[in-house]
Amino acid sequence: MPPFPSYSIAPIGVGGDSAAHLSKVDTVDKVVFLTIDDGIVKDQRVMDFLVEHRWPATLFLVSGEFKKDPLYFAQILTVGGNISSHTSTHPELSGLDFDTQRKQICGMRGTIEKALGSAGHLFRPPYGSWDETTLRAAASCGINAVVTWNSELWEGNVDLAHRPALQPGDVFLTHFRNDLYDNLVALEARLTAEGFTVGNLEDYLPNQ
Ligand SMILES: [Zn+2]
Repeated sequence: MPPFPSYSIAPIGVGGDSAAHLSKVDTVDKVVFLTIDDGIVKDQRVMDFLVEHRWPATLFLVSGEFKKDPLYFAQILTVGGNISSHTSTHPELSGLDFDTQRKQICGMRGTIEKALGSAGHLFRPPYGSWDETTLRAAASCGINAVVTWNSELWEGNVDLAHRPALQPGDVFLTHFRNDLYDNLVALEARLTAEGFTVGNLEDYLPNQ
């Protein structure tokens, strides 16, 4: 038995043999979604913050960094978060052939599954670079949705790409870097000021 809760099975994405793509979630709920990429800096203050605030973040990780400390990342599962594939080695996918993309996407999903007993049903393409082949390759790996973003957190800034306020369904990208703790503190202040919470992305997938 894995030491952390396993995932429920999410519904199949639009079209069956193609995963859905989304950069923002269509909802009227006052929720935003927090996605954290790569996995390079593993700051325990970050996990303590996420668990204390019960933020079910989605972690999109690459193989080398995940394998260094799977149990660090697995702490997010205790608050309903998600650990999903960000490819094995972080290539730019657009233009690559199906088999190459499939190997990158499925390979990392398998690595997570092997370490933790199950893996999330989402996928984040490196650099936000994807094409139609990515959607088919992802679906063949059991991925429901290819998720990019419409907002970012960096160096303690909440970056809404010139929009004046949070909107229901905004998807935030940030990274496991040295500024991550400050980014979370900044996001919490913004959420509190505007009456939003962090939602669970898999609960808001298309066709749910
Ligand atoms: Zn990345």
